[in-house]
Amino acid sequence: MSSALRPSGSSPTEQQFDVVIVGAGFGGIGAAIQLNRLGYDNLVILERENDLGGTWHVNRYPGLAVDIPSTTYSYWFEPNPNWSRLFAPGQELKNYADHVADKYDVRRYMRFNTTVEGARWDEDAHVWKVALADGETLTSRFLITATGFLSQPHTPDIPGITGFKGRIIHTTAWDDGFDFDGHRVAVIGTGATAVQLIPELSKRAADLTVYQRTAIHVVPKFDFPIPPFLRRLFARVPLVQRGFRWVTDNILELMMVSAVLRYHRFHRLNIAAADLAKTHRLLSVRDKDLREQLTPDYDFGCKRPTYSNSYYRAFNKPHVHLQTTGIERIEPDGIVANDGAKTVIDTLVLATGFDLWDANFPAIEVIGRTGRNLGKWWRDNRFQAYEGLSIPYFPNYLSLASPYAFSGLSFFNTMEYQMRHMDRLFGELRRRRATTFEVTEDANAEFLDRMTKLLDNSVFYGGDCATSRSYYFNHSGEASLLRPTSTHNAVAEQARFPLSDYTFA
Ligand code: NAP
Repeated sequence: MSSALRPSGSSPTEQQFDVVIVGAGFGGIGAAIQLNRLGYDNLVILERENDLGGTWHVNRYPGLAVDIPSTTYSYWFEPNPNWSRLFAPGQELKNYADHVADKYDVRRYMRFNTTVEGARWDEDAHVWKVALADGETLTSRFLITATGFLSQPHTPDIPGITGFKGRIIHTTAWDDGFDFDGHRVAVIGTGATAVQLIPELSKRAADLTVYQRTAIHVVPKFDFPIPPFLRRLFARVPLVQRGFRWVTDNILELMMVSAVLRYHRFHRLNIAAADLAKTHRLLSVRDKDLREQLTPDYDFGCKRPTYSNSYYRAFNKPHVHLQTTGIERIEPDGIVANDGAKTVIDTLVLATGFDLWDANFPAIEVIGRTGRNLGKWWRDNRFQAYEGLSIPYFPNYLSLASPYAFSGLSFFNTMEYQMRHMDRLFGELRRRRATTFEVTEDANAEFLDRMTKLLDNSVFYGGDCATSRSYYFNHSGEASLLRPTSTHNAVAEQARFPLSDYTFA
């Protein structure tokens, strides 16, 4: 155990900060910008990777693109007129992260290749002690974890996987120089990542076998290049781009509120969306048996919606095969399926997603007042965080990747309401000349109660999600990832949450 995670002890060499932010993705960048605006300059952003951008630095697999319109996928205060397409490719998101970090001058706070082990609230000194993997300890008045929801890659524990002699590549650790040409490749997983990757791999691999455990609804992608004249117009007259954003924001909001949150009332929309995916399969896949294998048996909306014009079609190619009987074991030269069929492969691609409910929440060990361990407390009680941000017994701490924090479809919607929350909270702290804030247990309990009740109307509880294996659900079957309110509500609420929901000291 690192010295910072032990109950007491300080060292004269500890560097002191006003705020330690963990994570240099869009969450950490947004938090630093907000804190700068509030007058804090003694910040450090700790990042385990060697560059900023979070998801958009780590994910570099072929076919990577944002899966909601780019007009909506940006900070509301920093529109980007340069998106090349409605659904911009991943590299443009990374470029945008670089641009924002430089324009708002927050790159100077970043320390890369720095892994945080954990943080402990020092009740005597009223500071956070943040332990780094290299043994260093930092102290800070405030701690903000911006570690993302999908940041802990999931590597499946399939018998024999460690004995595989070929190359294993997880989609979050793409090797840009690796040449798939002529390879016999297997992909495990058919989530949003695989839907983007499989059509690209099918162009390169000599043979491609896709191991699907749960089929996914895929609807057509309405994507197009944004013509240069329109980009110039966006740059010269930002109001025009704001108009486009207004449209895409509202379409997404409508989809989210009706098909996901008000399922009872609007479930015909879910049926219509599932029918659209079915028609898409019908038009894309000639083989009836194959179509059936690709057909999900749960309601549209249980999992994050996926768009592609090339995913289903890829399975028509003679060298692309779908395996749906499950994997029995992996041998040094291939995969043996549950039906006994062995496929000899050279390369195994793991599109197996992320580990939210074991490795995340929180991504580092966080120990608050009276030694309360956040991860343990969440698991012993229920996953919860007031306004998706703060937790009782954790003073001066905001967890941006919390249960009930992710609002709708764009991460930037989440950032927007969280930055507004920070603005009001830190403003009040300053106004009262206080040094600590802590959310009250009552406010937290009321918020959890409200979110739980709202979820009753959602597709998660009203629809048939039993077989979806959706990461929206935790191990207890609660859909405690998404905030079940509109984005509009989430943003507006930050201007009016009672400040008495916090104690200031
Ligand atoms: P995911 O949706 O969790 O999918 C993981 C896939 O791996 C699933 O098909 C899962 O099957 C399969 N899998 C996991 N363990 C397995 C095992 N032991 N055996 C067989 N199959 C196994 O992860 P993802 O595709 O990386 O996508 C995660 C999220 O990232 C998306 O929902 C989206 O929010 C985001 N994303 C965004 C973009 C974008 O914006 N461009 C792109 C990609 C992803 P089961 O379903 O049966 O568990």
